[in-house]
Amino acid sequence: MTKETLWQTILAQIQLNISEANFATWFKNTAIISKEKERILVSVPNSFAKEWIENKYRKTILKIIRSQDPAIKKIDFVVGKTKIKKENVVLTDSENERSEQLELNLRQDKTGLNPRYTFENFIVGSFNELAHAAAWAVSENPGLVYNPLFIYGKVGLGKTHLLQAIGNEINKRFPQKRLKYISAEILTSGIVSSIKNRTIEKFKASHRKIDVLIVDDIQFLAGKEKTQEEFFHIFNTLYQGQKQIVLSSDRPPKAIPALAERLRSRFEGGMIADISYPDLETRIAILKAKSQEKKTQVPDQVYEFLASTIQTNIRELEGALNKVILYQKTRNKKISLTETKALLKELTAPPLKKITPQKIIQTVAEFYDLKEKDIISNSRRKEVVKPRQIAMYLLREKLQSSYPFIARKLGGKDHTTAIYAFKKISEELERDENLEKDLNLIWIRLSNV
Ligand code: ADP
Ligand code: MG
Repeated sequence: MTKETLWQTILAQIQLNISEANFATWFKNTAIISKEKERILVSVPNSFAKEWIENKYRKTILKIIRSQDPAIKKIDFVVGKTKIKKENVVLTDSENERSEQLELNLRQDKTGLNPRYTFENFIVGSFNELAHAAAWAVSENPGLVYNPLFIYGKVGLGKTHLLQAIGNEINKRFPQKRLKYISAEILTSGIVSSIKNRTIEKFKASHRKIDVLIVDDIQFLAGKEKTQEEFFHIFNTLYQGQKQIVLSSDRPPKAIPALAERLRSRFEGGMIADISYPDLETRIAILKAKSQEKKTQVPDQVYEFLASTIQTNIRELEGALNKVILYQKTRNKKISLTETKALLKELTAPPLKKITPQKIIQTVAEFYDLKEKDIISNSRRKEVVKPRQIAMYLLREKLQSSYPFIARKLGGKDHTTAIYAFKKISEELERDENLEKDLNLIWIRLSNV
């Protein structure tokens, strides 16, 4: 495998594992510079991207690389103006567009919108017809038709795309309206930190000035009482002022666990629209439209094969298509069905293990509104000890980590501490229903990221 093909393969895999927007922002503009025996060197467009990729994606990338070439032990990134050959890039956009994308992402805190997601490139079929119609109506008359608009559906089926499209459309039609798109996760951390810094009143005041508030993945509020309470107040003010609220979730309001009754009934008070799975015909239409966007085509049989193999996730469908397109581009000929099958075998190889020790620690910390460093500290405070024990329990129970490993991960404690924690939580689980609920919530959260 040449170094270029290696990097292409890696990119295609990364693309399947992260959101489209993140991929476009962080990876489209990367290229492989060199491949030595144990190390590869990759150029990235600027130091911000370098830091981001190193902190967030280094591990994932390494895992993927190892699955391709086990000899490689290390990956380094350099900021470089290396001229990137077109064929090294999975989705070929102009350099300009790419840096704009980065710019936008940096400025995202203002509206949070990504211009890539519009109604124009959102494909409608019976599976998402209702959600689309409601979204469109809201964009035409924000605050006046369906409030709140609550859209739910499984992962990769277009919720974020649709929410963003609403935002972009309103921005276009009513540029004077103050608009904010935010994921519930970011909103939560905003609320938590402003409570800590005693700036929550200011935080709420700034959110009360918004005309259109779009909150993605609201199921994230499950079990977060304090955040729910503050959000309830923001919601009410906006609602009473006839400001538009749009929410998305991976399940309907009544199925979100540990959601305060008053919030649930608010969520149910407007319009609820679901997105289900696209049928075969629609999946083919989506593939064709996406190829057209990229100004290319693949053989009909290939569309059919992709659409019949990947049934439940549009993001994965797109990832597979990108890989096929890249294959055609690098070889300068149409791909055959046999070649597609071979390619796809790679794609459907066992998924990267998504749940890592790090993720567990992070998620437990978040769940209890703690910082990661608190959990791995030596603090004996009750609020910290319990979550720490829960993290230890999950590492053992779910990942079968060894006790010394667990102790090390949690800040270098003695392995007997880990054994004790596991035993204690196991026993408590027998009699404490709330603890069981907490653990379930944490687990749902971990399995969904
Ligand atoms: P979700 O938020 O539900 O997990 P996303 O909105 O992130 O899903 O969609 C995943 C990918 O699939 C995105 O790249 C998005 O553009 C694409 N996608 C989803 N639904 C559609 C659609 N109806 N038409 C075109 N692209 C879509
Ligand atoms: Mg989403």
